[in-house]
Amino acid sequence: MDTCSANDLTGKLLRPEILALTAYHVTDASGLIKLDAMENPYPWPEGLTTEWLESLRHCPINRYPDPEAKAVTAIIRQLNKLPDNMPVLLGNGSDEIIQILLMALKPGSTVLAPEPTFVMYRQISQSLGLNYHAVPLQADNFALDLTKTLEAISRLQPGIIFLAYPNNPSGNLFADDSIHAIIKAAPGLVVLDEAYSPFAGASFINALPDYNNLLIMRTVSKLGLAGLRLGYLAGPRSIVEQLNKIRLPYNINSLTQISVEFALKHSAIFEQQASAICAERTRVSRHLASLPGITPYPSSANFILFKTPRGKAPEIFQAIKEQGVLIKNLASQNGLLADCLRVTIGTPDENSQFLNGLEKTLTY
Ligand SMILES: *Cc1c(COP(=O)(O)O)cnc(C)c1O
Repeated sequence: MDTCSANDLTGKLLRPEILALTAYHVTDASGLIKLDAMENPYPWPEGLTTEWLESLRHCPINRYPDPEAKAVTAIIRQLNKLPDNMPVLLGNGSDEIIQILLMALKPGSTVLAPEPTFVMYRQISQSLGLNYHAVPLQADNFALDLTKTLEAISRLQPGIIFLAYPNNPSGNLFADDSIHAIIKAAPGLVVLDEAYSPFAGASFINALPDYNNLLIMRTVSKLGLAGLRLGYLAGPRSIVEQLNKIRLPYNINSLTQISVEFALKHSAIFEQQASAICAERTRVSRHLASLPGITPYPSSANFILFKTPRGKAPEIFQAIKEQGVLIKNLASQNGLLADCLRVTIGTPDENSQFLNGLEKTLTY
């Protein structure tokens, strides 16, 4: 089939919103220090790796995985101190949970989120033909604009609202009283996305029993297990039970179930790594603030968003990359992110290489 008729075919068969989408792009990081994707930079201690591989030795990969992933669910429930009666839905990353939530909504539903925020809320909403509505955060501090958000809720009656807590890519925690006001005003679900909880020192988990429309989503990715793909959602039984009907039965593979269970039994190691990352976050942020023309934003996550001199972000990004460090250029998203770059906190040595690279760029 030639290209022209293949295009005719996709145009005839596929939903226009899919033809209009751009695929999620991941920059090739080969040979570069990777500070672009909020990954934990620390390797495992040698002994732990050996023990982990031993735990996989008897994994029956000829069989389907446990569809309910009972063992890993139990340890997730325990570590997150979830109430006994509160059900948990597991996903192939929290990305899959976002997809499950959105697939469950009625056609024509509205999805509400602040802007800028995690791009998958919009990407998946659009792929499913839902109406995605973004309410701009406040300039300068990326706080929620409560008045505009409540106005949008009352006007658009969203089926679901996503709030990343802390927010990506800005790194800040939204004000607690604003979040409570939004949950109370919402006619539908409110998902608090706590992907960065290991670094945040704040959570809405304790508020779960107080609301019938609140869901908390977390992931093991930013903690240090991004390659295993496991996210989870906790909330009211009546909602989670319905979502579970559209979850594919074997969405969490056997290797992931065993590996995450193993890793979480050693969660102290990841907690130590997270506190090392938080200490480095303070150092990097102070150093950024001392550089001419650079303004870092306060962060409760494992990354820092910072503003560069007007119009300079693309060349600064490129110059840092040429010195071997990959960060994230957000300037093309414009709006509040004009002139902004985002760096993930790495090891002390990686962070110093980034800071040196940036400093050199600014003095030339
Ligand atoms: C990274 C990130 C996720 C994705 O997590 P996965 O479990 O790796 O799919 C979800 N939400 C936010 C806000 C993130 O930054």
